Amino acid sequence: MPLRRTKILATLGPSTDPPGMIERLVAAGLDGVRINCSYDEPATWAARVVATRAAAAAAGRPIAVLADLSGPKLRLAQDVAERELVVGDPLLFSGTPHPDPQVMEVGWAALAGEVVAGESEIIIGDGSPRLMVTGIDGDLVTAVCTRPGRVLARKGVFVTRTSASAPALEDKDLRDLDAVCAMDVEFVALSFVRSAADMQQLRSELKARGSAARTVAKIEKLEACAALDEIIQVSDGVMVARGDLGVEAGVARVPMIQKDVVHRTSTAGKLTITATQMMESMIESPEPTRAEATDVANAILDGTSVVMLSAETTIGAYPEQTILAMGEVALEAEKADLFSLDIEAGTEGVAEAVMQSAVHMCEQMGAAALVIATASGGSVRAATKYRPSRPIVALAHDERVRRQLALEWGVIPASLSEGLLNLEEFVAEALETARVRANLVPGDLVVITCGRQMELPGATDLVIVRRVSE
Ligand code: PEP
Repeated sequence: MPLRRTKILATLGPSTDPPGMIERLVAAGLDGVRINCSYDEPATWAARVVATRAAAAAAGRPIAVLADLSGPKLRLAQDVAERELVVGDPLLFSGTPHPDPQVMEVGWAALAGEVVAGESEIIIGDGSPRLMVTGIDGDLVTAVCTRPGRVLARKGVFVTRTSASAPALEDKDLRDLDAVCAMDVEFVALSFVRSAADMQQLRSELKARGSAARTVAKIEKLEACAALDEIIQVSDGVMVARGDLGVEAGVARVPMIQKDVVHRTSTAGKLTITATQMMESMIESPEPTRAEATDVANAILDGTSVVMLSAETTIGAYPEQTILAMGEVALEAEKADLFSLDIEAGTEGVAEAVMQSAVHMCEQMGAAALVIATASGGSVRAATKYRPSRPIVALAHDERVRRQLALEWGVIPASLSEGLLNLEEFVAEALETARVRANLVPGDLVVITCGRQMELPGATDLVIVRRVSE
């Protein structure tokens, strides 16, 4: 089987629950699963994590689990008066309960203090109706309809161009975080991120729970686009959450925002996930459309590390076929030359510099694989950001590190025996693992990196070049 470099992350749901289904998805090429905390209950998520761990163990391949927290989502109250809006209709909004059902309560007390007349928009549901804020009077906000649509109780509400005063994690998110940390997930994503401070708050909540999960910022708000570089800096990865981004920014702006986010995140050496509607028609059809295949290929050419599936696998009729089809498209796209040393070189010292040189050596000598011994995964991430044209075999003692690396572009995570006595024993095992996992043949050249103290993160200081023996 050819080695695919782009990773596939699939959201779990009712369609993936039948016994044996996750095993089939793993066999089809799944690299990670997403638990969407906006749906179902912690007991259901836990059962899905257990099923994923079992499928991964049976296949002998690490599979990452990403928990996606709902974040601060606003909704219209239950008792608002439902109505049809046409362009020019005014509508009143309030942050707190209001006796008049004609006033739309959104459950965010700070609303009136946060919006800016003539700048902030209020968007309901999937993008229609859309209203421009025109006036603020005490707790009441007046907005005028700019795109028609029906106002329905409990619909999601987006408010653009606000400052970030609502907490990044609501009480539900904190309870969900308790639950997913107990499941020992590898990644936690946060929805509706507005600033770097939101991600720092997530990081400190994870720390308080003793979790080493890596963090993913979902970019779906205009505020996040404006603060992107700061957000990238404090996050381990970024997701272009095109569903809600399309609602807030308008669908027409999604393609260029996606390209900008993927470019800035991947050149900063961070994990990039492109999400939503990538294979949407496969919810009901066994084949993707030409446009969907092109969308997946373009995201890969832009530099995404991961392509994500949502409804295609949660409620779709063809979850297995979707993963197979996505994998085929990715393999074709990866035939393009993606390698680039034109990426920010790290400034974190020796290990970063060694990894850049090792990748360069690999390319110059036409090596068949780069094998990296890693304690924390840092040296692997320092190499994959250059998108080397050959596979990276990551050797890690720690199972959690192997699972985290399962989502990194071009990385084949593998275990490393404890108690190897000397460098020669390590090199022999590294070559054998690379031979099996990266389909090498005798005579293939391999570049191996390690540190003399292998358990120490950031201690990579050796580059070894060997051939696979006859
Ligand atoms: C999105 O909005 O694109 C997204 C990935 O988030 P969710 O699936 O939670 O709506």
